[in-house]
Parts: sequence; C-alpha cells; structure tokens
Amino acid sequence: MTQPTTARPLITLKCNRACSYCVNKYPGMLKDAVRISDLSGLEGFNEICLTGGEPTLNIVRLTKIVVELAERYPTTKLYLYTAKYSPTIAGLMGYLSGVHYTVHSEEAHGENASDDFREMQGLAWQHANKPGLAARTFRCTVHKDFHGELSVIPYVWYRFEIKDWTPASECKLPANEALFILSEEYLK
Ligand code: SF4
Repeated sequence: MTQPTTARPLITLKCNRACSYCVNKYPGMLKDAVRISDLSGLEGFNEICLTGGEPTLNIVRLTKIVVELAERYPTTKLYLYTAKYSPTIAGLMGYLSGVHYTVHSEEAHGENASDDFREMQGLAWQHANKPGLAARTFRCTVHKDFHGELSVIPYVWYRFEIKDWTPASECKLPANEALFILSEEYLK
C-alpha cells in the first residue's frame, strides 16, 4: 500500500458557494477522512494542501493555521486551495509554496469572478518564479460552465486548465493523499 505523502486537511466545511458538483457532498467522499482537533496529526508529510469548504472565509483563522503549520513543519510544503481571492493571501506567501485557485461555474462563482481572477493572477504574477524569490507555483482550474471573460497571462500559471468536475461515481482520493477534517473550533 502506498504511504500518503500529501495531507489534505479541510480546515472548514463552510463555504460561500453551493456548487452542485461539490465533492464534499459526494456520498462516501468524506467517510474515510480522519477528524483532527488540532494540527499535530499532520506530521511527516511532504506537502500539506489546505482546503475546505472555503479556507479564506475566516482569514484570521487561516493565517493562524498557516503560521502554526510553517513553525511546526518547516520542511513541509504548504499549499492553499481557494476559490475566493483575499488580499491577505499576499501576506501568507512567505509561508506558502503555492496556491491553487478555482473559478467555478457562472452560477456558483457569481458576478465578481473576473475581478477576483484578475486579483489572484496579479498575486501570482508578483510571486511566481521571480529571480531572488523562492519558487512558488500557482495553478488555476476553471469549471467548464464558467462563461465569463478572463484575461489570462499564461506564463504566470504553472498549470491552467478548463474542465468538468469528476462525477461522484469516479471521484477518488489519490493513493498518495490522506484526507483530514480539522475541527471548526480549532483557533476559532
Ligand atoms: S466552492 Fe468548493 S467547497 Fe464550496 S461548494 Fe463549490 S466545490 Fe464545494
């Protein structure tokens, strides 16, 4: 059996969107997730991918979590998965190895999707692989049902893709990943 090298903690299940294709609502997706009351259970992974729900909804809590993880596990790469731009993410870039940004379907993302994307791309432009700065990777996934306008600067993105979401019947956690659900009470 493959030993997981990536921890994927859902730091919250709360979200400001209600995507019909949300994997958290897929039957069985969260059933094997390990519930943790603090961050001590995330030791020993090469990477930690902070996700949700929407991790930036409580940006103060997200900041505390990122700082604590960076102090506890200084050699582990930290990534943020988000669908909501916040200027505070810029202040976290000293701790993060990258950001995965998602543009959801038109209905789910709302009318500020293009503006949010522009802000996130500006952040990526400032931090992605600049001489003298630690390498950061920025990935973007756009749902195929997003039909708004995005002005994309391709070289900013380590990966940029437009795609449909995997249906529940085919959706599996990769073998190298372990899923966790962090208590909403932690660092609230
Ligand atoms: S933004 Fe992500 S977590 Fe929120 S409802 Fe959509 S798919 Fe689910």
